[in-house]
Amino acid sequence: MLQTPEGRPLDLTLTTNGSLLERKARSLKDAGLNRVTVSLDAIDDALFRKMNDADFAVADVLDGIEAAQAVGLAPVKVNMVVKRGTNDSQVVPMARHFKGSGNVLRFIEYMDVGTSNGWNMTEVLPSADVIARIDDVFPLHPLDAHSAAETAQRWGYVDGSGEIGVISSVTRAFCGTCTRARLSTEGKLYLCLFASGGHDLRALIRSGASEADVASAVAHIWQARADRYSQLRGSDAAARSTEARRVEMSYIGG
Ligand code: SF4
Repeated sequence: MLQTPEGRPLDLTLTTNGSLLERKARSLKDAGLNRVTVSLDAIDDALFRKMNDADFAVADVLDGIEAAQAVGLAPVKVNMVVKRGTNDSQVVPMARHFKGSGNVLRFIEYMDVGTSNGWNMTEVLPSADVIARIDDVFPLHPLDAHSAAETAQRWGYVDGSGEIGVISSVTRAFCGTCTRARLSTEGKLYLCLFASGGHDLRALIRSGASEADVASAVAHIWQARADRYSQLRGSDAAARSTEARRVEMSYIGG
């Protein structure tokens, strides 16, 4: 397993749309990757293609998930962003498909990330409704969190055939335990998914800073953070905090 400079094991994961995963799973595993998370918003092929403007099929993604499992990039997490009126009809079919597969399906509330998705609160299907819909067909019970900073709430199938997760980024914001930072490909450190600006680490590194200088700069940036956009969503404070254009998800990842 790859290690940090201090010798601690590195939990290296990758989020992907899965389109090339069947071909790449083995080489990713050999290169040291531990797990993958695959985005899949529908099991219905026509709806999937329409939502993602994708030129690949659901079957390609499912083959990729199977290949990842086979080489040990497991458990594979499958992320479905649920948009009311668009793909909420897929909640139970997705649960049915992945139940008993060993993969962990996670339902994410549709969020106002960036400024390009035209987000509207009426399009959010609360996690409580997702749980109720699945529980009607496949009874569920709550499971303990793996850690305090876990973003998903875990639910297990009562018949013991696996678990699902819900990420309630809108209805139950978890900013207080948020441990995430994101590094853009041009070296800017973003502390929040809803940030409008990042901290330029590339300039610092190119100015000749030592590893210790960079570590200290990151520590200072982190200690000074006060991000809690999801807790303030809809308030004047949230509007002020993102007066400038918010960063797009495609730029910084999830
Ligand atoms: S809104 Fe920002 S601070 Fe809150 S959980 Fe999301 S990324 Fe973390």
